[in-house]
Amino acid sequence: MIAPAPRARTIDLIGNTPLVLLKGPSEAAGCEIYGKCEFANPGASVKDRAALWIIRDAEARGELMPGGTVVEGTAGNTGIGIALVANALGYKTIIVMPDNQSKEKMDTLRALGAELVLVPPTKFADCNHFVHTSRRLAEETDGAVWANQFDNTANRKAHIDGTAKELWEQLDGKLHGFTCAAGTGGTIAGVGMGLKEFDENIRIALTDPHGAALYSYYAHGELAAEGTSVAEGIGQGRITGNLEGAPIDTQFRISDEQGLEWVSHLLREEGLCLGLSSGINVAGAIELGKQLVADGVENPRVATILCDTGFRYLSTLYNREWLTAKGLPVFDWLAD
Ligand code: PMP
Repeated sequence: MIAPAPRARTIDLIGNTPLVLLKGPSEAAGCEIYGKCEFANPGASVKDRAALWIIRDAEARGELMPGGTVVEGTAGNTGIGIALVANALGYKTIIVMPDNQSKEKMDTLRALGAELVLVPPTKFADCNHFVHTSRRLAEETDGAVWANQFDNTANRKAHIDGTAKELWEQLDGKLHGFTCAAGTGGTIAGVGMGLKEFDENIRIALTDPHGAALYSYYAHGELAAEGTSVAEGIGQGRITGNLEGAPIDTQFRISDEQGLEWVSHLLREEGLCLGLSSGINVAGAIELGKQLVADGVENPRVATILCDTGFRYLSTLYNREWLTAKGLPVFDWLAD
């Protein structure tokens, strides 16, 4: 086996993540289910890719100058990615985040040297929403750019240029379906667009959590939410700039309980400690695999995203009191 060559710069550690065949999910689906290990990025999430592409794009447009500041509103992972990339390239970071996100993400952002602004969670239409607050802060700060991950399509370009191409190469061009949930929509739209360039028959499915409006949009053309979810980083109520033109062929709605079940299996049986969006993605990938099998596709292969590390949720997903308070099932090994 040949070890990968040394990388010239730390930012070159972003992307080129491993792809793993998931045993339990493959058995459940009756076909091969693969997980793209985005927790292996330096910031331990898929959002390092968007952070790097957004910052490089702002530099290329001449908006971000040496010593400048990157401002963003984020559920946490994008902020962590931006802080790391900004540190590596000599920029400052200001992150606006809803105060109901995991403490681990807040502590991580502070530890990375980002200036953290916490705001109460509120509707997007409210001018105090974290996204609008971050835009205003960027406007008020000298030498600052607003990353604008929801509508800035440099986000999805990271997945067209990177994730999709990597998946295609890692599977030697034998891939029949891809699915993941949407936060900004950068991953699903970018991977979908990138894969369709290789083979337009690859089925692209949106896996939506409860409480989000996209399942209904792609199924019936109407943005409407049903239920709730505690999953962080996913669940969108509008067609963001990144979702515009996303090639979505089909859609699934997955509950937190289904997602948690796969988080639990993957940890106990495959040694992967992941966040809830990964569990929801895997549950969606199993649905997509079953659908492809039922449609007569021979030995289909489905890929999804393992978005971030479970170490980011020790005080929530992996905490008995928190799970109980949310009315969610507690993993056997946490119940005393
Ligand atoms: N999972 C987690 C844990 C995330 O932080 C995010 C980013 N918001 C996503 C999934 C969704 O990624 P995207 O923004 O590309 O839709």
